Amino acid sequence: MGEAVNSRVVKTVCRICSGECGLDVHTESGKIVKVEGMKEHPVNRGEICPKAAINFLFRRFTDVLGKTCLCHHGE
Ligand code: SF4
Repeated sequence: MGEAVNSRVVKTVCRICSGECGLDVHTESGKIVKVEGMKEHPVNRGEICPKAAINFLFRRFTDVLGKTCLCHHGE
């Protein structure tokens, strides 16, 4: 048997701009695995803009690469 995965959905707001859209942040064992627009939020109604989507994708990508990323210049 594999290690148990602790899955959660954290309801929060995006702070990238002043829109403060609602977000559902999905985590597994404390790591963000998916970010969605919060369906019941009156501002964005389940949507997420490209600026926020790219931001979270970039964060996940750099988290996966970690210290093996060449952009860290071997630090
Ligand atoms: S999801 Fe986009 S529009 Fe909404 S607060 Fe974040 S950056 Fe602004």
